[in-house]
Amino acid sequence: SPADVADIGVTGMAVMGSNLARNFARNGFKVAIHNRSVGKTEKVIDSYGTEGEFYPSESAAEFVASLQKPRVAIIMVKAGGPTDAVIDELAELMDEGDIIVDAGNALYTDTIRRESALREKGLHFVGSGVSGGEEGALNGPSIMPGGTKESYDRLGPMFEKISAHVDGAPCCTHVGADGAGHFVKMVHNGIEYADMQVISEAYDLMSKALGKGASEIGDVFAEWNKGDLESFLIEITAEVLHHQDATSGKPFVDVILDQAAQKGTGAWTVQTALSLGVPVTGIAEATFARSTSGGTAQREAARAVLPAETQQLEISDEAQFVDDLQKALYAAKLVSYSQGFDEIAAGAKEFGWDINLGDMAKIWRGGCIIRAKFLNRITEAYDRNPELALLLADEYFTAEIAKCVPAWRRVVAYAAASGFPVPVFSSTLSYYDAVRAERLPAALVQAQRDYFGAHTYQRVDTEGTFHVEWSEDR
Ligand code: NAP
Repeated sequence: SPADVADIGVTGMAVMGSNLARNFARNGFKVAIHNRSVGKTEKVIDSYGTEGEFYPSESAAEFVASLQKPRVAIIMVKAGGPTDAVIDELAELMDEGDIIVDAGNALYTDTIRRESALREKGLHFVGSGVSGGEEGALNGPSIMPGGTKESYDRLGPMFEKISAHVDGAPCCTHVGADGAGHFVKMVHNGIEYADMQVISEAYDLMSKALGKGASEIGDVFAEWNKGDLESFLIEITAEVLHHQDATSGKPFVDVILDQAAQKGTGAWTVQTALSLGVPVTGIAEATFARSTSGGTAQREAARAVLPAETQQLEISDEAQFVDDLQKALYAAKLVSYSQGFDEIAAGAKEFGWDINLGDMAKIWRGGCIIRAKFLNRITEAYDRNPELALLLADEYFTAEIAKCVPAWRRVVAYAAASGFPVPVFSSTLSYYDAVRAERLPAALVQAQRDYFGAHTYQRVDTEGTFHVEWSEDR
């Protein structure tokens, strides 16, 4: 490749990196491309070389040299050790003021560590969340870049151009310093877990309680996709449920083993929430639900001795039940998002990031997996009150939830009485009831703590910290 020519470079020509590179090229940017093994780079040129101006390189040195200064090199390789190896290799070859972007799914603490190490060398390191899978990378993802403002000045316009757009606005914004972008991407994925699980719980109840077949349930989701629930995940759920397995001729969903895998971003979201002390119960239950599904030994042991039959209550009005499910789904979803935004706010406070919560909802409206119509409502809520302590306390959401609560309770009560698991429906409802309760049983917990550990307590009627000498009292 000639030197000093490309606007931007991408290293890592697997599916995500090559699609991202093609997206830049299709948008008129001169793109340097590189991959550890040369074959993948050649394949991109062979198959898509005519889509735009590509500058392929066989070595990292050639790749870096082909970039215009200040250089912007995006890394899209396997997360973890491979990413570190590529960062080290590029950093050696780059000059002060150059920018290295990690667009893979890194843990935000790794990003903070990497940013700090590269800053000492005078380089900018940008950890950027990229959501939308392969399709998004090619046609417009939602992009969540962290790092310095200076680095955003250089790469922001290019990222905004290739991102998804909704109502003319790019689904990309500078999230905040160092690990902020990857933190927000992590919570995005956590919310995705909750969304997927609660959709599956609604499906499960329609299947087991109403005895509906997959395709019929697909019709219900397709219908729901015309209302408040309109979203990518509801849309693909309808498509998946309508899909027939080619081999068996059965509904596709019925031939899939009921064990959900995970790559770890849900668990990161929950682990982080635990250390920040933020209750993300919907996300946590969704993550644990995948673990329960994959716990083959436990499931076999339980099934061997515990009766599988449920105490299924009769449903007298099927249409009402489906309507209840729709409302319960919306309410549970609102709680999951509210909890996720709490985690972003707590992370921002802990790590000193200036994150505009309304903007996060805005850049998730397109490109990403949790894209949904109702995200506009979240942006509006934070526009009304940027200091909003709780998304659920916004006037619009208060009113929306109020409309759903009776249905939500009926669904959870029905499932509990009948013996169907609904971890996200029920945990989000419990959270909703707890967070608005006048008084919580935490008073008793605190008294217990004071009893056995002299942890002290505070009073409702006087300021200060108190302790009872319990041994004298006995
Ligand atoms: P991947 O399978 O995660 O990684 C394959 C790429 O990594 C190949 O280009 C490979 O090069 C390179 N690589 C592996 N080890 C390396 C090393 N030690 N040194 C240099 N290069 C190395 O690819 P992917 O699915 O396209 O994902 C890329 C990143 O995007 C990941 O961090 C992933 O988590 C993230 N992501 C993926 C999705 C998705 O939908 N797949 C969505 C969002 C984010 P070789 O060809 O030489 O082996």
